[in-house]
Amino acid sequence: MIRGSTELVAILGSPIAQVKSPENFNSWFAAHDADLAMLAIDMSEPALAGFIASLRGWNNLRGCVVTVPYKQSLVPLLDELSERAAALRSVNVIRREANGRLIGDNVDGAGFLKAARAHGFQPAGKQALVLGSGGVGAAIAYALAEAGVRRLTVADVRPAQAQALGDLLKRAFPALDIGYGVEDLSEVDLLVNASPVGMGDSGELPVPVTLLESLNSAALVADVVTQPVITPLLALARERGCCIQTGPEMARAQMGNLGAFMGVMPVDA
Ligand code: NAD
Repeated sequence: MIRGSTELVAILGSPIAQVKSPENFNSWFAAHDADLAMLAIDMSEPALAGFIASLRGWNNLRGCVVTVPYKQSLVPLLDELSERAAALRSVNVIRREANGRLIGDNVDGAGFLKAARAHGFQPAGKQALVLGSGGVGAAIAYALAEAGVRRLTVADVRPAQAQALGDLLKRAFPALDIGYGVEDLSEVDLLVNASPVGMGDSGELPVPVTLLESLNSAALVADVVTQPVITPLLALARERGCCIQTGPEMARAQMGNLGAFMGVMPVDA
């Protein structure tokens, strides 16, 4: 129930009907008797700047989760960015301070890592491979570098995109060992598909099946794709005896990071 006293958070994107955050946040608010609610907002691009300006005066709004396609385009419209959001030039959450200032952060990587740690993955000193160096891949790679992986390989069908991410990581983490090519997976402790490959019923794998034959069964294999839950990559990894992490696990783990940044729930919610 939304009352006059209810404080609001929002999720902004276009389209918006597919997002799961409103169910997850509103269920949590109801279960914790919190006078808070999340609204799903489908906003057209031309209205974006006006919408962001209006957030500064929206006194009963605590913050806004940001999803596709606005994670990058909102960056110049905000008043302040976290260090990682500034490095990534991408935000997935905004906090509205009491004085109306809008502060952006990107917790995609932190949510991913929280889910991976719940599977027993300890990043320090490990070797990780991230497939896809777009918005989510960059955020995951940044979080892995920050958490102290020893070697990070980023691969993308658009090599210039992977190189740009590598350059960004090198600036932020000069000691990090960064690679781009993948010929063998036997030394990889964590393999992440951060590309949309495997979505829907495409049945596609992000790397050739022959390469996956070199996967070590001690590796954690993760996918960011949420539909299907068990992607072809995860099905194959499971067959090889690997521990797997699904896209919905990452999304669910991230709720506390998003909510804590907006000041409406604890980080471990
Ligand atoms: P994006 O378009 O910014 O990046 C995707 C990248 O993958 C592109 O650079 C593309 O070139 C690359 N790519 C495509 N095929 C590849 C392949 N075979 N190997 C390597 N790279 C390949 O997209 P994004 O915003 O980063 O989103 C990626 C996926 O993450 C989407 O499917 C999205 O739904 C999902 N996602 C999941 C969560 C979650 O919580 N689980 C959160 C956000 C986004």
